[in-house]
Amino acid sequence: MEKKDMEKIVKTFYDKLEEGKIMGRKCTCCNNVEFPPVFICNKCGSFDTEWIELSGKASFKSVMVANGQTAKYPEFLPYALGAVTLEEGSEVNALIGGITKENAEEYRQKLPASCHAKIVQRDGFKTVMFEVD
Ligand SMILES: [Zn+2]
Repeated sequence: MEKKDMEKIVKTFYDKLEEGKIMGRKCTCCNNVEFPPVFICNKCGSFDTEWIELSGKASFKSVMVANGQTAKYPEFLPYALGAVTLEEGSEVNALIGGITKENAEEYRQKLPASCHAKIVQRDGFKTVMFEVD
């Protein structure tokens, strides 16, 4: 694998976000889906991966509420950090919008709870966070 291949994957991912599409890489050998997309399948090591558009459906199994005073992404408050599992099977630690100190306990009682991916604007580029359903 060459550096330019990796750069191409990253560029395509961000270009697709501009079009409103959230993409992952699906392994044609074992069907594992990588998100964020990487060139090599982390499950079986295959180089044979292809683009798929993700449904955006997901669930989360943990929540750690961001502190409003020290939050790293104040523009996205209220949010929590959580372990998110995409419908396609990939697991990521991600921001989950809509969770506050007040309602966090309610969500903890019903984990895993469902959420969905959402494309958000950051300084000069779009990225993906999640939001409770
Ligand atoms: Zn694989």
